[in-house]
Amino acid sequence: MDFSLTSEQRMMQQTMRDFVTRELMPLEADVLRREREGEIGITRQQIREIQLRAKQQGLWGITTPEEYGGASLGPIMTALVMMELARTFIPFVFGGSADNILYYCNEEQKQRYLLPTIAGERISCFALTEPGAGSDAANIQMSALKDGDDWILTGEKTFITNGNDADFAMVFAVTDKAKGARGGVTCFLVDREMGWRSSYIHTMGEWGPASLYFDHVRVPESNILGTLGQGFDLGMQWIGQGRWIYAARAVGAAERLLQMAIDHARTRVTFGQPLAERQAIQWMIADSEVEIEATKWLAFHAAWLAEQGQDTRHAAALAKLYGANMANQVADRVLQIHGGMGFTRELPIERWYREMRVWRIFEGTDEIQRFIIARDLLHGYTKIGELL
Ligand SMILES: Cc1cc2nc3c(=O)[nH]c(=O)nc-3n(C[C@H](O)[C@H](O)[C@H](O)COP(=O)(O)OP(=O)(O)OC[C@H]3O[C@@H](n4cnc5c(N)ncnc54)[C@H](O)[C@@H]3O)c2cc1C
Repeated sequence: MDFSLTSEQRMMQQTMRDFVTRELMPLEADVLRREREGEIGITRQQIREIQLRAKQQGLWGITTPEEYGGASLGPIMTALVMMELARTFIPFVFGGSADNILYYCNEEQKQRYLLPTIAGERISCFALTEPGAGSDAANIQMSALKDGDDWILTGEKTFITNGNDADFAMVFAVTDKAKGARGGVTCFLVDREMGWRSSYIHTMGEWGPASLYFDHVRVPESNILGTLGQGFDLGMQWIGQGRWIYAARAVGAAERLLQMAIDHARTRVTFGQPLAERQAIQWMIADSEVEIEATKWLAFHAAWLAEQGQDTRHAAALAKLYGANMANQVADRVLQIHGGMGFTRELPIERWYREMRVWRIFEGTDEIQRFIIARDLLHGYTKIGELL
């Protein structure tokens, strides 16, 4: 067993750390100030400018296949990139990428949807969740009825990330009620101009998803993504990938927060001694370190399985469940160690604390991850001790 990174992986880790330190961390104070004043912390335009600077260093299309001009990084490299990016709360993503299921576009769709999305000219969103179907995604009700060469979509989607900015949506609708999720759900590429509306949802974070409304929206048959009836499987592929990536992000964010706590504990003096001398504080630091390391190996294990082309579902559920909870726990401890200052909006801790809460909800809630893990064990899909 070899836990060391290859020289190429180390180089990527260092490149990313330098990039985050040089390009993103210096923006943090201004982003916090603007948000405190009720403004957008960082605009799409600013993000775009950083993306283009990153492109000059080859940091573009991290997971995008080389044939589309991307770096085509494998899962372990991607995990490393995500850990480094998460060391800042600046909501930065590299340019030159598209949601993974968009690669199912046919040749004609590629020109209209995939390539402009990779180029950053169009924004997409992934619309599966409905007011009546979140965890129970197989129960979606949005209807798609055949009318000549078109489909007519009617229903509502909710909590859709980028939903208020998107130019088009990947919308999951029921094309065969009798079959439902087992062959009766289809994914459609639906331009905003085809007639859907959106409204922003305010959240406890600094960003919000949107509800999308479809009232007899006419979509041509040629806008089916993948095959008729195979939409649910496509959707699950997209969600499945996100799961272990959140564990990687949890590591980067928690490590940065823990470092803040260590720095504070060393310098803050109470009752004549630095906080670092107190066992109550030391234990919070120690427990955080144990949990961060545990998450790191859960995330790398899931990424390694993906790299081997193996089924990652069980490992990704372990990593997401543990990682999302770890990040929330660490943020809470770090806030506690900072006392009143931790609660203020002068420091980014409370911001992280608010943002991380959703990691336990989207891409499959804690309870759904537990359900998957228990099901795999109880049904014998995974046997204890046979993970590797
Ligand atoms: C900020 C944000 C962004 C999002 N982005 C997207 C997006 O881009 N695209 C998209 O399609 N969706 C998106 N979602 C939706 C997200 O995937 C759902 O919120 C999530 O799947 C949970 O569904 P729900 O909110 O309907 O909760 P519910 O399914 O109603 O669950 C409510 C609670 O009950 C628990 N629960 C549910 N069923 C069971 C059970 N059988 N046993 C025990 N407990 C159970 C859940 O774990 C949860 O704690 C986003 C959500 C948020 C908050």
